[in-house]
Amino acid sequence: MSLVRTMRRIGVAAAVGVAAVALAACSAEKFPGDSTMATLHEAGAVTIGVKHDQPLFGELDSDGVPQGFDIEVARLVADALGINESGITWVEAPSDEREHLLMDGDVDFIVATYTISDSRKESVGFAGPYYVAGQTLMTRKDDVDIASPLDLDGKHVCTVAGSTASETIKRVSPGAAVVLFDDYSDCLEPLRTGQVDVVTTDDVILAGYAAEAGGQFRIVGAPFTAEPYGIGVAREDDEFRLWIDDVLEEAMDDGRWKKAWDSTAGTVLPEPQRPYIDRYAAVTDGT
Ligand code: GLU
Repeated sequence: MSLVRTMRRIGVAAAVGVAAVALAACSAEKFPGDSTMATLHEAGAVTIGVKHDQPLFGELDSDGVPQGFDIEVARLVADALGINESGITWVEAPSDEREHLLMDGDVDFIVATYTISDSRKESVGFAGPYYVAGQTLMTRKDDVDIASPLDLDGKHVCTVAGSTASETIKRVSPGAAVVLFDDYSDCLEPLRTGQVDVVTTDDVILAGYAAEAGGQFRIVGAPFTAEPYGIGVAREDDEFRLWIDDVLEEAMDDGRWKKAWDSTAGTVLPEPQRPYIDRYAAVTDGT
């Protein structure tokens, strides 16, 4: 073999070697060394809190696999971490347990119709919002007495412990008898049988139940709150929170967010306006 050819071969081999090293370094350097992103990426595994019984946003299918818009949003984040479906552990995150799941480190993040609020920011961090819902009411179809939260004096109103819906309804309808369960689906049978008169929570959750109930229930009036849905993370992990903000922004720019919507909640609900990502400054506890 000619010297030139040999040299060329060595050159090509060296170049391939350099490229391989560069690639490896690149994937290792994709995330800052001590970041949550790097830890999860290297483990190839992530634990995500989601709802199990909310059609359109987070519900188990017949194989026990979660599906819905929140699930697709969670998958976008896992994918950006370089983690595929087999690396995801889905954990149920009922409304009242979400802060604890994050504070105890039982989940890496939560995507579960989770409203960003100042009081919750004292315990957890929120990327997003990736969607904005609004609280409303659902009654039996034949109930014509209730048109707004002002009509709830003496009425039995079902909602979920630890939700913004439970706090708001106590404030705007002080005359209502509020009945609290762990999950919204627990409210459906009591509504059907007349044990309660109303179920209240976010419009999109109620829309899912109304669609499944085939005309037995009706959504009443317009939303009376704004519920910006965020991705919950550990409170002190601003790096992870702001990185998820970037992932959401990119997904909104390149059509993946819309695709996630169209294949889930978008089959029943109108296309949402793109929300403005709120990269808020870290919340300090003043100590
Ligand atoms: N979005 C509201 C909340 O985070 C109500 C829905 C829910 O309980 O998940 O409290």
